[in-house]
Amino acid sequence: MAKRLGLVLIVGVVCGCGGSRPPPPIPWQQYSGERAYQHVEKLVGYGPRPSGSDGLGRAATYIKAQLEEYGLTVEEQVFIEQTPLGPKQFRNIVAKTRAQPSGPNRVIIIGSHYDTKFFTNITFVGANDGGSSSGALLEIARIAAEQPSLWFVFFDGEEAVRQYSDQDGLWGSKFFVEDLKGKNQLSQVKAMVLLDMIGDKNLNVTVNGSLIPQAFDASRAAGFRDYFAYGGNGMLDDHVPFMRAGIPAVDLIDFEFGSGPGLNDYWHTEKDTLDKISSRSLEIVGKTTLRLIELLQNQATGH
Ligand SMILES: [Zn+2]
Repeated sequence: MAKRLGLVLIVGVVCGCGGSRPPPPIPWQQYSGERAYQHVEKLVGYGPRPSGSDGLGRAATYIKAQLEEYGLTVEEQVFIEQTPLGPKQFRNIVAKTRAQPSGPNRVIIIGSHYDTKFFTNITFVGANDGGSSSGALLEIARIAAEQPSLWFVFFDGEEAVRQYSDQDGLWGSKFFVEDLKGKNQLSQVKAMVLLDMIGDKNLNVTVNGSLIPQAFDASRAAGFRDYFAYGGNGMLDDHVPFMRAGIPAVDLIDFEFGSGPGLNDYWHTEKDTLDKISSRSLEIVGKTTLRLIELLQNQATGH
């Protein structure tokens, strides 16, 4: 890893072309799992956060305030879709680092959904599912705020209002990709990294989509290789609209969120609460993600 970075640096100096200058190193060791955990506590404190709810609105206000504090340029994408439960309003939050040189294949998107699944029969606060990745993404944004060409995207409407299908779920990420297409900006995006359900105390992350070797390399570089396993291509999550649009994308998700090995019985239940997650798990995935960003920045991937 260090060798590869050094080589890129030399090439940059020799050719003297500002555009290919490698970005400054990311101070990934300063990432704090405690800070990420405190964000999750805040989000959970707003109660259930399904799309269109007051809780989601309060979460959006908090997330935007943090991102602005880090010096990022923050936009909101507000849109209405016809869902199986009627028209619903959604809001994605998009934060960009200040340095955004134009050109193809430069932008790396790091994403998380911040909505929680809508239930009428239980109080679902989504500490892990919706909370954990959003808390980690805020801390990632703080650490990487000085980097060029990073977009931190908090998707609304990842959860299906009824049940996942081609017509339900992934509302925010689908809208985001269609919007990029409409603006002719798809070619600017080099890669997309998605985090989802990464707070479980008993952490078993699977790596899904493309960029799987890169994610393994990053986990090794951060010192956490043992927590990551091969996932494959079967995971339906917010990275899928990006992959379908031809953008290399990877989803880091722990889909064994339960009372024992191999079980997922806390998922989408009232048991998805703060006591099930840990700052250590948020640290493991957060630091790995920062190393993955660094690796992708210095890699000539295209699409
Ligand atoms: Zn969910």
